[in-house]
Amino acid sequence: MRIGQYRTTDDESPWTGVATDAGVIDLSTAGAAAGVDIGPKTSDLLADWEWRRKADLAVEYAEETGVGLRDPAELDRAAPVDDPRKVVCVGLNYRDHAEEGDNPIPDDPVLFSKFPTSVVGPEDAVRWDPEYTEKVDYEAELVAVIGEETRRVDPDEAMEHVAGFTVGNDVSARDLQHGDGQWVRGKSLDTFAPTGPDLVTTDEVGDPHDLDIFAEVNGERLQESSTENLIFGVDDLISFCSQAFTLKPGDLVFTGTPPGVGVYREPPVLLGDGDEVTVGVEGVGELTTEFETE
Ligand code: ZN
Repeated sequence: MRIGQYRTTDDESPWTGVATDAGVIDLSTAGAAAGVDIGPKTSDLLADWEWRRKADLAVEYAEETGVGLRDPAELDRAAPVDDPRKVVCVGLNYRDHAEEGDNPIPDDPVLFSKFPTSVVGPEDAVRWDPEYTEKVDYEAELVAVIGEETRRVDPDEAMEHVAGFTVGNDVSARDLQHGDGQWVRGKSLDTFAPTGPDLVTTDEVGDPHDLDIFAEVNGERLQESSTENLIFGVDDLISFCSQAFTLKPGDLVFTGTPPGVGVYREPPVLLGDGDEVTVGVEGVGELTTEFETE
């Protein structure tokens, strides 16, 4: 199932829908007609412990009756989850990326955070003041979306707590990130977490540790790897996080980026006004973002 958020007009609050061959199914509308209560947003959906069954029922009903079916051409896209409670990230989680920055391979995941206000969707631009940061960079990432409350789970049960995956660009202001002594400011500028287009459920993605991943800047491929190179897999990351804090439905876990980010290239590739970055993960989707200075 490909779960996204949509809106008809700019000022409409995003609502959750499922992309099908016939169109986009408005889950709340189709669910109400089918007799199941589904809140308007993806975060509402995932907060319901029966969300998988309810979503299946709503989709089935919409496909039979046409109720809640919308024409995607009339809709704008929002982030699949635009209101996560937290955005957890991991540094240095691809072996080659750790090496390109002369960093030792970590014994445990190195966690950091982006504030939730940095999250934007597949049709939003990344915007920044060029006097505030001069070193804006991209990071292609597979993003796990939490599907149920998760506290102290073992790796072998961690995947049951994941709703699915989306594509993320962990946009980073390198001068702030490396100048501060800790990363949160350089990672959390407004708009610096493009995600989407869809949350693709785990059953549809298959093995999350065997997916091609890439980033292209203005059509030139600058990152290319596979999630088989992850040092800590999704199950290990979720388990590790859950020993420390509770993961909530809708929380986003950025799983790290492969080699080829701009700051370590010779010469460095830093993003400027008018650049376009596409991040893709096999079976999950492609996310293209415009970069604009304010
Ligand atoms: Zn990252």
